[in-house]
Amino acid sequence: MTAKRSTYKFETEARQVLEMMVYSVYSNKDIFLRELISNGSDALDKLRIEALTHEGLRDDAQDLHIRIETDPSENILSISDNGIGMNRDEIREFIGTIARSGTKEYLEYLKGQNKKDLAEELIGQFGVGFYSSFMVAKKVTLVTMRAGENVAWKWESTGDGTYSLEEAQRPTHGTTVILELKTPDEEKGIKDYTGEWTIREIVRKYSDFVSYPVRMKVERKKDDETVIEDVVLNSMKAIWARPENEVSDEEFTEFYRHISHDWNEPWKRISMMAEGVSQFRGLFFIPSKASSGMFMREQNEGINLYIKKVFIMNDWKDLIPEYLRFVRGVIDSEDLPLNISREILQEDPQVKLIRRSSVRKILAELKKTLRDEPDDYRKFWKEFGVILKEGIVNDPDNRKSILDIALFPSTASREEITTLAGYIERMQEGQSEIYYMTGQVLENLRHSPHLEAFVDKGYEILLLADPVDEILMHYCTDYEDRKFVSVGQGNVRPGTDEEKKRSLEALEEKGKSFQGLLSFMKEKLVDRVKDVRLSDRLSTSPVCLVTGEEDVSPQMEQMLRAMGQDVPDIKRILEINPEHPLFSTLTDLYSKEDLHEKLKEYCEMIYDQALLAEGGTIKDPAEFGRRIAHLMVQAIDED
Ligand code: ADP
Ligand code: MG
Repeated sequence: MTAKRSTYKFETEARQVLEMMVYSVYSNKDIFLRELISNGSDALDKLRIEALTHEGLRDDAQDLHIRIETDPSENILSISDNGIGMNRDEIREFIGTIARSGTKEYLEYLKGQNKKDLAEELIGQFGVGFYSSFMVAKKVTLVTMRAGENVAWKWESTGDGTYSLEEAQRPTHGTTVILELKTPDEEKGIKDYTGEWTIREIVRKYSDFVSYPVRMKVERKKDDETVIEDVVLNSMKAIWARPENEVSDEEFTEFYRHISHDWNEPWKRISMMAEGVSQFRGLFFIPSKASSGMFMREQNEGINLYIKKVFIMNDWKDLIPEYLRFVRGVIDSEDLPLNISREILQEDPQVKLIRRSSVRKILAELKKTLRDEPDDYRKFWKEFGVILKEGIVNDPDNRKSILDIALFPSTASREEITTLAGYIERMQEGQSEIYYMTGQVLENLRHSPHLEAFVDKGYEILLLADPVDEILMHYCTDYEDRKFVSVGQGNVRPGTDEEKKRSLEALEEKGKSFQGLLSFMKEKLVDRVKDVRLSDRLSTSPVCLVTGEEDVSPQMEQMLRAMGQDVPDIKRILEINPEHPLFSTLTDLYSKEDLHEKLKEYCEMIYDQALLAEGGTIKDPAEFGRRIAHLMVQAIDED
C-alpha cells in the first residue's frame, strides 16, 4: 500500500494563532501537557458517552486511559489515549481551523495590543490547547483513528503554517500525539520534558483530578536489577468529594480551568453539600470575566453532571437557570439513576430540588460577598450584573433575593453604584417611593431634564440604562414596601403630598392664564404630543416630554418594536418650564398675531429640543440644524 501524502495550509486564523504560539515567550510552558491530557480526557468522555447509545462501540469503551511515553535519547514525548479519535474530516476541521465565532476580530485586537506574552491570552480565549504543544516541540505528529472506523491518519506539522496528512497504521482507536521536543540549544531554558519527575510534577499539579488514569512506564532499581513498573500519575480523586480544607486553591483553580476552558482564575468558588431528600454535592465557580458575546465560548457552558462520581454530561443547562448561566461547576448526585437521559432530567423532581437549592446557595453566597467584600462584589456585578438581573424578571421566587444584591447607578454618585437598601437609607424625610428613570445611555440619563426638580429638592433617582432594566421595572413594583416610581411619568412630581398638591394647584391656576398659548402649541403639535402643559419638574431646562399615566415609556415602546410587536406611536405630554426665559418669548410671540407663523416654527423646534435633551433622536436633524442657523443669523441682525 502506498500512502498518499497531502499538504495543507492552516486556515488563516489558525495559522496566526499557531505562529503566536510558536514564538511565544510565555514562561509557563508546562501547561502544554495539561492541555494534551485534557484533550485525551475529553476524547475518553466522548467515547464513553457515545458507547452508551452505540452498541457497536461498547467493546471499545473499555480500560479507558491516557498514556505518557518518553524516549529521552531521541528527545521525544508522546501522549496517547484510547478515546474517540478523529477521522480525516474531523482532523481537518478540529485541528486545521478555529471555528469559534469572533476569532478574527479578536486576533486583530490582540495584534493591536502589541503584547509579548500572548500564549496565555490565546489559551484563555480559544482553549487552543493542542497548538500549545508547539511551545515545546519543533515537530508535532498526531496519529489517530476514529472509534467505529478502521482507517488511521497521521497528521504532522512543524508549526510553519502547513501540515501534512496521510493514511497510517494504528492498532486501536484513539489518538497519539508525538512531540519532537526542542532542546536547550534550540530554546534557552527549556526543561527536559522526558524526565520522569518533571512529568510527574506537572501531572500532579494540573491534572490530578482527571478521572481517567494517566499511566507511564518507569524504571526502578530493585536489588541491582532494573524493573519496569507501570504507574498511574494522577490520583483521579473527584476534587469536590475531598474535604475542602485538604484541597489547595491552586488545585481548585486548575480544576476550574479543566471544566471551563477558561484560563483566568475564577472570581469565586462555592461548595455545597446537601443531605436529606436529595443527596448531592455541588462545586460552583463564578468566572472573573464574562466571555463577551464576541468571544463567546459556545461549548462547555453550564454545569457538569456527575452521578456517584461518574461523569454524565458537561452542558447540563437544566440545572442552572439562564440568569446564572455564567456559573461553571459540578453537581454530583447520589440518587439519580446512572442511565438518566436529558429528557428525563428536565422533569425529574430530584433535579428540581437540586436546582432550587443550588440557586439559593449561589445567591446567598453572593449576598455574603456583597456584605463582607463590597468592592470585590462590585467587580462581579460589573461583569455579570446584567445577566443576573434577568432573574428578577424570570424567577419570581428569588426576585427579592436578587433585588437584595442588585446594584444601580444613581444620582447620588457618579462613581459608586448603589444597592436598594443603600437608596432607602438615604431617602428624604417623608419620601415613600423609590424614584427611577430609564433610558439608553447613562450619561444622557444623568442630564435628563426630568430629574431637575427632584435633584433640586434633594431626592435621589436610580438611573437605569441597561436594556433589561425597562422590562425589569415592569416586573418589580416594589421593594421593602416602597413602590418604584418612574420620574418620566407625567403624574409623578417631587415633594410631599402637601407640596405636590400646592404646586399642582398653582400650576393649574397659571395654566389658565396661558390657556391660549398652550392650546395653540397643542394644535400645532397635534401629531406629536397628546398635551402641552406647564411644568414644575424643570429648573434649568425649558421643556421636557413626559409619559401619560397609562402609556408605556419610550424605551418600552422601542423595545416592543425591536421584538417585532406592532406598537402604535405613543404620544407623550410636552411640559414647559414657566420660569424659563423661553416661556416669555413664547407668550410674546403668541400675543402678536403677525408672529404666529414664527411661533409655529418654534413649536417644532421646542419639541425636537425636548427629544434631544433626553438623548432621543429627532426626525429631521438637518432641518433642525437649518432652523438653529437661521435663528443665530436673526439674533445678530437684531443686535
Ligand atoms: P479544545 O479542547 O478547547 O476544543 P484543542 O485545541 O485542545 O481545543 O483541541 C481542538 C479539537 O481537536 C478538540 O475539540 C477535539 O475535537 C480535537 N482533539 C484534540 N485532541 C484530541 C484527542 N486526543 N482525541 C480526539 N480529538 C481530539
Ligand atoms: Mg483542549
